[in-house]
Amino acid sequence: MSDNKNNQSICGYCKSIESVVKYKTFDIFDNQFTINKCKNCNAYFLAPRPTSEQISQAYDSSYYGEKEEKFSSPLVEKILDYFRSGRARRVSKYLKAGAKVLDVGCGNGRFLKYLLKYGTFELYGTEMEGNSAKRASRVKEINLKTGTLDSGDFEDNFFDAISLFHVFEHLVEPKETIITISKMVKPGGIAVFSFPNIASFQARFFKGKWLHLDPPRHLFFFDPKDFIEIMKEYGFNVISKHNVSFEQNPFGMVQSLLNFTTKKREVLFESLKGNANYIKEYSKINLLFQKLFFVFTMPFFAFTDLIVALFGKSATIEISFRKKL
Ligand SMILES: [Zn+2]
Repeated sequence: MSDNKNNQSICGYCKSIESVVKYKTFDIFDNQFTINKCKNCNAYFLAPRPTSEQISQAYDSSYYGEKEEKFSSPLVEKILDYFRSGRARRVSKYLKAGAKVLDVGCGNGRFLKYLLKYGTFELYGTEMEGNSAKRASRVKEINLKTGTLDSGDFEDNFFDAISLFHVFEHLVEPKETIITISKMVKPGGIAVFSFPNIASFQARFFKGKWLHLDPPRHLFFFDPKDFIEIMKEYGFNVISKHNVSFEQNPFGMVQSLLNFTTKKREVLFESLKGNANYIKEYSKINLLFQKLFFVFTMPFFAFTDLIVALFGKSATIEISFRKKL
């Protein structure tokens, strides 16, 4: 660990240049980065900040899937629908009929669509231009804004709930977005965030090879306890924490372990997304072994996820907040 004061290492959250290097990492294009911890706000961030070219390269069609859906297998989409439905059920508990709900980075819009299983709500979503936004635009109940959420998009106190599921860590201007959200949620309304837990067992064990670092797309991370303090400053108190995620956490174990065996990172994940170009130097038999490892170890890692969740050290976390009246 060493002190780091150069301009290449600007905190992704508060823009401070005072940070400590924690460990090295590399992205799927083999660009080298470090994960630094900000001395001012305690955020962990990717340094140097990726260039806009690196970011747009990482968000090309191979990320969201070139096909109809992100994953090439209909079974994977079915399983994801089960998790989206679970998120919808959890959020719906806090909502009254007619509530206005905004999902920032709504992907294909299926989480919002599932909310309607649990009540009558007014649905709003934002998604960056691309295939996901096209998919979301086909869900007619969603008022969709293509692009980022900007401060002028909605009036203050407009929404009963705003959610960001695995979106916060991607934001280029996270602090501005927090301020915008804190104004748009009504007093008594809720804000729900899920993100990778940098204080998790997986993060501490796998360091630069951890799946959920996802460089260069994930720009910064918070220890949940620091994030909760930040939200307090904006008038939000925690109402629930959800640590177990069979969608995110067991696969985090599988892929991070496999990352020790392959030169490139996330080979299995990219192959499941149908990114044929990325995996071309890996033989069919190699990929088959990786898939078998996945299938046979998943139940065990689902079990270990339950155990680490007891200590609040799961790889990802979902936190719901209520805005003070
Ligand atoms: Zn900072």
